[in-house]
Amino acid sequence: MTRPSTKEQYDATGWAPAAEFDGGDMDCGSGLLLSITSAMRRIGEGEILLLHTREPSVLADLPAWARLAGHELLDVLDNGGGRGPWQLSIRRGSPLPPAPRSTFTEGAAVPLGSRLWLYSNFHCNLACGYCCAESSPKAAARLMPVEVAAAATREFVAQGGRELLVTGGEPFMHPQLGALLAETASQVPVTLLTNAMVFDRGARRETLGALDRESVTLQVSLDSAEPGLHDRQRGAGSHAKAMAGIRLARELGFRVRVAATLRPEDAANAAALHVALDAIGIDRDDRVIRPVAEEGFAGEGVHISLDTVEPEPTLTVDGAWWHPVAVTNSHLKVADTPLPVAQVLDVMRDVLAVQAAGSSQGRAVFRCT
Ligand code: SF4
Repeated sequence: MTRPSTKEQYDATGWAPAAEFDGGDMDCGSGLLLSITSAMRRIGEGEILLLHTREPSVLADLPAWARLAGHELLDVLDNGGGRGPWQLSIRRGSPLPPAPRSTFTEGAAVPLGSRLWLYSNFHCNLACGYCCAESSPKAAARLMPVEVAAAATREFVAQGGRELLVTGGEPFMHPQLGALLAETASQVPVTLLTNAMVFDRGARRETLGALDRESVTLQVSLDSAEPGLHDRQRGAGSHAKAMAGIRLARELGFRVRVAATLRPEDAANAAALHVALDAIGIDRDDRVIRPVAEEGFAGEGVHISLDTVEPEPTLTVDGAWWHPVAVTNSHLKVADTPLPVAQVLDVMRDVLAVQAAGSSQGRAVFRCT
């Protein structure tokens, strides 16, 4: 069907717009969007609004608005040989559905400087397909020296730090994990992230047994109630070993938290996981359901950037990073060394200050009362 150019032609061809709006010289930032939003609400779903405009910037800005609003920009007709005026045909889409209550755990941002992440190492007994740290049995260990961890914790606590989170890789593969935790957990409460698969015997079992139950909490990765999803994501047999690890840690008197990592299409598994965790007595506050981040090995997932996630200062042996899921992302590297922590935090504060200034200048408060 040939695209009509007048209302009469629209009527004749069945493209009849349900309404027209003359936007004149208005651009999208000066009232046009309010006007056409109002106009779209007065037509039915699937009907067409014909927008007339002489403002060239509308051609660039309106497609994004239409996409976000759930409408379809059918086409653009130029009535002036490239100089306008233009006619834009916009088909009203379905009303945007209310956002579903998220399966994923929500949380408030914590003050910068109150929480610190520390990568003990990067090698791991597993090689999960979504691993943000690109860990595997073949990954370079990149061991965090005990003395650097101790110094970082000292500095962090002296500046008001309240919580340390130690992760990897699989931390129990760090040959000096016991010493590292003795130096850090004596200063501040520590949450230790583990897949709970390698501490059931030998020296690692001794390390586990010697940890202070008061100051060390274990957070175990468990993606599903049954082995299917967990084993598909983490490797055959890993679910049974993780469950055994959870049992052992609890028998030894540890507080155990559980963290699941799920892709959106697997989010429905969370319900069964909650039932299973209820059954074994894991407190509701000790569960985290988190989405896959688009980092490391993961080709898809939540996009991580300075603008989209709150900072969570993270130290590795070779630098400092904006967030623990972004330690393979050179764009989110804050410093080339983990120490001094004060410098890491200052850089992050400067970034936040610039972001705050930028957003406050984008829209002014105009007081009338
Ligand atoms: S996601 Fe965790 S358990 Fe899996 S490879 Fe990465 S560090 Fe290891």
